[in-house]
Amino acid sequence: MTSLAHFETLAGRISLPSHAVIDGKGIASRSGATFDNISPRNGRLLNKIALCDEHDVDAAVAAARKAFEDRRWRDLHYRDKKRIMFKLADLMERDLEELALLESLDSGKPIRDTTAFDVPSAIRTLRYYAEALDKVHGEVGPETADRFSYAVHEPLGVIGAIMPWNFPIHLTMWKVAPALAMGNSIVLKPAELTSMSALKLGELALEAGVPAGVLNIVTGKGSIAGKAIALHMDVDMLTFTGSGPVGRMLMKYAADSNLKRVSLELGGKSPHIIFADCPDLDAAAAHAAFGIFYNQGEVCTAGSRLLVDARVHDAFLLKLLAAAKAFVPGDPLEPKTNFGAMVSEGQMKTVLGYIETAKSEGAALTLGGSRVRGDSGGFFVEPTVFDDVAPGSTLSQQEVFGPVLAVTPFKTPDEALKLANDTVFGLASGVWTSDISLAHRAAREIKAGLVWINGWDSCDITMPFGGFKQSGFGRDRSMHALYKYADLKSVSITIR
Ligand code: NAD
Repeated sequence: MTSLAHFETLAGRISLPSHAVIDGKGIASRSGATFDNISPRNGRLLNKIALCDEHDVDAAVAAARKAFEDRRWRDLHYRDKKRIMFKLADLMERDLEELALLESLDSGKPIRDTTAFDVPSAIRTLRYYAEALDKVHGEVGPETADRFSYAVHEPLGVIGAIMPWNFPIHLTMWKVAPALAMGNSIVLKPAELTSMSALKLGELALEAGVPAGVLNIVTGKGSIAGKAIALHMDVDMLTFTGSGPVGRMLMKYAADSNLKRVSLELGGKSPHIIFADCPDLDAAAAHAAFGIFYNQGEVCTAGSRLLVDARVHDAFLLKLLAAAKAFVPGDPLEPKTNFGAMVSEGQMKTVLGYIETAKSEGAALTLGGSRVRGDSGGFFVEPTVFDDVAPGSTLSQQEVFGPVLAVTPFKTPDEALKLANDTVFGLASGVWTSDISLAHRAAREIKAGLVWINGWDSCDITMPFGGFKQSGFGRDRSMHALYKYADLKSVSITIR
């Protein structure tokens, strides 16, 4: 039986990873510089992590390039690649508790979530792409008497993967597993707030038999190490999850360097629509609360705009507030906690700033609205609900990336669907109705990469994930993600 004391003891016993992984070795940055890694649960120093710069990125890219060109991974028999990837999954399972603990310490996520979701999900993703890698077939062209043509998928080369802090190991695996399965080399940069699970993954990959140089991990700041990867002339592709402003910069860096390809998974302001004929208001309320309060609202697909038919608005709001009360801020290392700390003091202040703006713009604060557990020194914001949020207001338009829900009533399906599309984003959406025609109409008309009917976040690794509009382009998950890390080559043989 695990307990807070168990995880605190374990945290004191394990060594917290702090070195970059370049060419198969755990190393300090060349300059020797480090940065402070602060714990979101108490504001104290956790460890000091290698602050990599352009020189470290050059070394990582050179190692990745060499590994790619000498084909040490790409040309391994697919059965061997598969065996190594499965071995890595087994090692992650062996060290699941440690990985989950590193993730909670770094990010402030509840240990029960990192143990039950983040790490198991990363393992499932790895196994999915390990299973997929020998199902990649090319195409044979139309037959003619004098020619035989075929098309093959070839790995792209060196992939620069730049990651956010909200689901570090889970999202890292969405990039690393398909890129590896396709035979590429990788230079991975975790977010500076959450480096540790990626560094542990790098160690385990070497133990599993992923050859040196194939998975390199550089830690440090986006404006230095991230930028150096993005501008590098020898990186063939950037795969990114993070904010819109950084996504825009990556496109510029790609244009200013070698026209590397770019795949962007950006933010959202996802609508969750409750029509009056919702089949189960209690279930919808539970999903609406989960949709915004899970992971402290630090979720790119958070259902941050709740659009409710005015006829059921009052009844639904009562159910929603009851469901919201199930999310109780607590110590992330306490196994009962289901709502942890914001990832950093800066993110906490950003969220509190949005709350003040919403008040000043006239939204009705109905639940929460404050920092809590301040005595712990940690960065906690309580679940917060605003009602009667005006469609054009800041809270309706901008991504908060925290536990703040904007409720807006509507009168007709036309109005609801218009409101749903009334932001620059298009990542996820949810619709609750018993009318199959309305459900289909909503699925057709909502401009978003994900539409969940009578549920929330109901797909898994088997279905593509990504945005429309300014939520980005390119897809993670599914076989589509595998092909993203490949180029298509046409070969034609003239028969003489
Ligand atoms: P961020 O964009 O600030 O940082 C993401 C990564 O980019 C980090 O590793 C950072 O170091 C790096 N970076 C920063 N500046 C850089 C630069 N100039 N050049 C290269 N790299 C740079 O995002 P964040 O704060 O870590 O994450 C929160 C954002 O991510 C939110 O907007 C959220 O919606 C989005 N997000 C999207 C998804 C998705 O799948 N669509 C998933 C999770 C998070």
